[in-house]
Amino acid sequence: MKWHGWGHPHVTFPMEDKPDLWPFVREKLGMSRDLYHPAVKVEDIKLPANRLTDPKATLKELEALLGADRASIDDFQRLVHAFGKSFPDLWRARAGIVATAPDIIAWPASHEDVVAVIAWAKKNKVHVIPFGGGTNIAGALDVKEEAKLPVLSLDMRGMGRLLEMQQDSNLALLETGAVGPAIEEQLGQRGFSLGHFPDSFEFSTLGGWIATRSAGMQSDAYGRIEDMVQALHTVTSEHVLELKPFPATSAGPDLARPFIGSEGCFGIITRAWMRVHPIPASKRYVGYLFKTFEQGLAAVKACHEADIKPSLVRLQDEGETELAFNLKSPKPLLKSAVEFPVKKLLKTLGYTKPAIMVVGFEGSDQQTAHLASAAASIFKKHGGFPLGDSIGSAWSKDKYNTPYLRDYIMDYGGIADVAETSTTWGKLAELHGAVLAAVSVGCAEENLPGYVGCHLSHTYVTGGCLYFTWALQGGDKPLERYYRMKARVTDAIVAAGGTLSHHHAVGTEHLPWLAKEIGPGGEAMLGAFKKAFDPSDMFNPGGLTPQRIHPYLGTNRG
Ligand SMILES: Cc1cc2nc3c(=O)[nH]c(=O)nc-3n(C[C@H](O)[C@H](O)[C@H](O)COP(=O)(O)OP(=O)(O)OC[C@H]3O[C@@H](n4cnc5c(N)ncnc54)[C@H](O)[C@@H]3O)c2cc1C
Repeated sequence: MKWHGWGHPHVTFPMEDKPDLWPFVREKLGMSRDLYHPAVKVEDIKLPANRLTDPKATLKELEALLGADRASIDDFQRLVHAFGKSFPDLWRARAGIVATAPDIIAWPASHEDVVAVIAWAKKNKVHVIPFGGGTNIAGALDVKEEAKLPVLSLDMRGMGRLLEMQQDSNLALLETGAVGPAIEEQLGQRGFSLGHFPDSFEFSTLGGWIATRSAGMQSDAYGRIEDMVQALHTVTSEHVLELKPFPATSAGPDLARPFIGSEGCFGIITRAWMRVHPIPASKRYVGYLFKTFEQGLAAVKACHEADIKPSLVRLQDEGETELAFNLKSPKPLLKSAVEFPVKKLLKTLGYTKPAIMVVGFEGSDQQTAHLASAAASIFKKHGGFPLGDSIGSAWSKDKYNTPYLRDYIMDYGGIADVAETSTTWGKLAELHGAVLAAVSVGCAEENLPGYVGCHLSHTYVTGGCLYFTWALQGGDKPLERYYRMKARVTDAIVAAGGTLSHHHAVGTEHLPWLAKEIGPGGEAMLGAFKKAFDPSDMFNPGGLTPQRIHPYLGTNRG
């Protein structure tokens, strides 16, 4: 993966076939392509001194434990293990400002390797930060000032095997360093799928998903990652836990639960028994247009009430719909000649603040057909205008490309970020309005134009997740400007009754709001877990500690 951006090193966002996109960005953000801000050269980055007393001797010790080439003190490896992929992470990497970094990296190849490394780390008084794909955008991988000892980054990507399957019970035992494509490939050979497809699917790992309580695009049908976990194997500084995948048990509390969302602070999740399902025979993605975002929300809610479950819902508000139109490649002449009168007709019919929705259905051919047709009649009742399959196929084809756009904006000195939350159906529309207003007030205070858009990305019987994207110029002090807007947006989310994160986790970036969300009882329980699993603060020190002071955001916001 790129060390200063998203994705494959040689892939950039394809602007060439999107002639409307740059004029749209220029109009919305007032940015100019004359101001190019390239990343510094990697060889010019100076890393903090290695804190190990004798780095080479320690390297030898770890290689003796794990095998040659399974550990490194190389500067490039220290750099790429120092960050995740949030805007501040990438901004610092591009500017070459690397204040903290792990001192040594190790790649275990099995659960037994992890047991051995953790015993070694305990004996040698070394902190351990588990590293999955490094894709989190909450600052979960930062080496924080609470790390008083040298830091080992334990990169789990050497552990990616499907170890066992109970096909008759839809269960698979996977090593947690497996990245998305490796999981689907190994399960696919047996006709199965996990069904977890976050936008970061190509690079993120099963362990990272579990440790951050991730949600994939198809969570409406298959659930969030935590709904798929049947049992976990974990290694802490004190215990090894190997839970069995019973279909159900009442043998005390579920001991896997504290590790789900543990953000590397309690120990290492090494293996997971996951619920899997046969690959669906048929998948269909279709598009609808609603007169307003609120009308779309009501239509999706009605689907849940009627027990009609799409596998995916992506309802875009006016801002995102406008962006989606500007992301399109030009159409052949005949097609645009047909589309023009349709657009005019829609305007006459009152689709003036249009909200596009892509909705997916999966199952047997009959199930897919039934779901699509039952949902169609509900959407029609709520004013949904069917747009056919082509918009759904276009979205499916491009779904992993969009994250590259942020790098493009950053190349020209812009800030682009996302914020996501969930709340109950009754509060969604108000929360949506509150965040749009917060961005607009923030931009006015900065005296700058800006962009904000949102989509409903995951839905439940009880409510849904709103996913906001916002962008503006960076100016002279982009990090300060970023944190002013981040604070505004998160304050607005929390005040309007949303959780501080639906699936991106807490990391360092959301810590200042955690105390308010979980209350004193929650804080005490987090402290008690930490004491039980990790009394010497070996794992990810400073993580999941609500009283920690964030250098830009302070503590206990809201
Ligand atoms: C472009 C982009 C798109 C994204 N889309 C989504 C999305 O659709 N849905 C979503 O949920 N998230 C999304 N994310 C966020 C990110 O991909 C998730 O948080 C993901 O779960 C992180 O997995 P990872 O393997 O990269 O973990 P990392 O980033 O490496 O680590 C995340 C945290 O988990 C801990 N950890 C990692 N592995 C283990 C382990 N084996 N045991 C214990 N702790 C561990 C780490 O210490 C760290 O605290 C996106 C991010 C980007 C940049």
